[in-house]
Amino acid sequence: MITEITKAQLLAWRLGVLRDQNKATSTQISMAKRNNVDMALKIARESRQILGAMGISGEYSIMRHMMNLESVITYEGTHDIHLLITGMDITGENAFN
Ligand SMILES: Cc1cc2nc3c(=O)[nH]c(=O)nc-3n(C[C@H](O)[C@H](O)[C@H](O)COP(=O)(O)OP(=O)(O)OC[C@H]3O[C@@H](n4cnc5c(N)ncnc54)[C@H](O)[C@@H]3O)c2cc1C
Repeated sequence: MITEITKAQLLAWRLGVLRDQNKATSTQISMAKRNNVDMALKIARESRQILGAMGISGEYSIMRHMMNLESVITYEGTHDIHLLITGMDITGENAFN
């Protein structure tokens, strides 16, 4: 988990540097949003599972956190759409239709 979080932070940091230089592109932002939300959601799901049945109870906040991320993976561009944007950027092929 810490490795994946660190990798995601590096991606966000690099994007921030590019933004400061006015060099960040929307496709790079797509890649970062898609990767980092997916990573956070997977970690939240894994954390919930580690807690077993307690993981779905209100006593622990992980389920609420996970549900928040289920929203984030849809808004500001869905996971699938960001994949299509990234794919189009690297291949030049439009696979939206
Ligand atoms: C909590 C929350 C807050 C939101 N806040 C805002 C807001 O403030 N302002 C705003 O404008 N919107 C907001 N939205 C809306 C959000 O941007 C849309 O829900 C999102 O863009 C997906 O659109 P849709 O729901 O119409 O799904 P659809 O476009 O119907 O997509 C359904 C599914 O099909 C996939 N899909 C769609 N087209 C393709 C394709 N060509 N190829 C492959 N897969 C495809 C999508 O990835 C998705 O998984 C919010 C949504 C949520 C959940």
